[in-house]
Amino acid sequence: MSLSRRQFLRGAAGAVATAAASVAEAAAPFAPRENKPLPPKAIGMLYDSTQCIGCKACVSACKDANGMPVEQPQALAGWNEGTWDTAEDLSGKTLNVIRVYQHGTMAEKDHEVNGYAFVKRHCLHCLDPSCVSVCPVSAMQKNPLTGVVTHDPDACIGCRYCVLGCPFNVPHYQFDEALGQISKCQFCQHLLQDNPLFTDNEAALAQAGTSATELWKNSRIPACCDVCPTGASLFGWVNDLQAEAERRMALKPGEMYDFPRGLLGGDRAPNTAPVGAYKPHIYGEKESGGTQVRYLTGVPHEKLGLPVLPNHSSAAVTEGVQHTLYKGMIAPIALLGGLVMLARRSIKGEEKGPHEEESSS
Ligand code: SF4
Ligand code: SF4
Ligand code: SF4
Repeated sequence: MSLSRRQFLRGAAGAVATAAASVAEAAAPFAPRENKPLPPKAIGMLYDSTQCIGCKACVSACKDANGMPVEQPQALAGWNEGTWDTAEDLSGKTLNVIRVYQHGTMAEKDHEVNGYAFVKRHCLHCLDPSCVSVCPVSAMQKNPLTGVVTHDPDACIGCRYCVLGCPFNVPHYQFDEALGQISKCQFCQHLLQDNPLFTDNEAALAQAGTSATELWKNSRIPACCDVCPTGASLFGWVNDLQAEAERRMALKPGEMYDFPRGLLGGDRAPNTAPVGAYKPHIYGEKESGGTQVRYLTGVPHEKLGLPVLPNHSSAAVTEGVQHTLYKGMIAPIALLGGLVMLARRSIKGEEKGPHEEESSS
């Protein structure tokens, strides 16, 4: 059957209108996809800035546990012959750093005005990690059970997309090494690996009701939490750490409290100290789709260098955009296919001639 010019134009106009409506729908504002849930046995850390005394035992333990060298800024090169670690920020040699907020007279700890405060920086082990999303060779991985985000140097091609993709500016490349690598906190996975969570996932899952103490009492915990004298860096299940953070925020500032140390639910003697005047915000609960490291602070987090971020990850946005684009491309592709089919049928009819066309219709 061939098509008259009128039939062809009518068919083409209908297809264009359908495709245009679909493209207009796709051009509506892009919506990020859903945030990802906590992995079933998510482990994490609660860092309470009000309990941190800036001793940097955690920085030193992190270096020891991960075989990282001492670091000195250029201005201090030669001072103390490089034996004293004075890292100012995260780098290819430093996975964890304590930074100081200072204002005015610095008279009061955890005061925004005329005060000072400490803040610990390292990987937050995001629920929906952008570093994992952008890595083209899956060298960055998130453990589906514990949620720990690790980097595999053997798979890494050194493209540094993860450095650009991380909203917390965590991964760094070792530029001053001949065979440089990406470095970031891996939650001391090499210390935790004897735990059944890492050695036997099925058995660990079967222990879903097991308390933190039971599951962790025979294995090591991240070095920074292990050595922290005040409990400012506390290890545990993310849900329990979140509940602990909420409990502390509900207390009266100055009230005495037994701050757990090392492992939340563990058997170490607590650190009894006054409760801080917390800002009503648990940083990491929602930022960038949520993280497994959570912060309590007495000074607004943005003053401490913790970035203000939306409640969804950049991975959720880019995947949402891709999904919308693909959805919007279906109609134009169908339109093209329809037009090609109409044109072919029309050409075929013309090749057959008007008599054949009549007899076949
Ligand atoms: S903080 Fe950065 S490096 Fe760590 S998991 Fe999130 S995106 Fe990745
Ligand atoms: S968990 Fe381990 S690697 Fe990460 S900051 Fe603490 S000590 Fe360093
Ligand atoms: S070891 Fe604890 S108290 Fe000392 S700097 Fe680190 S987090 Fe703060």
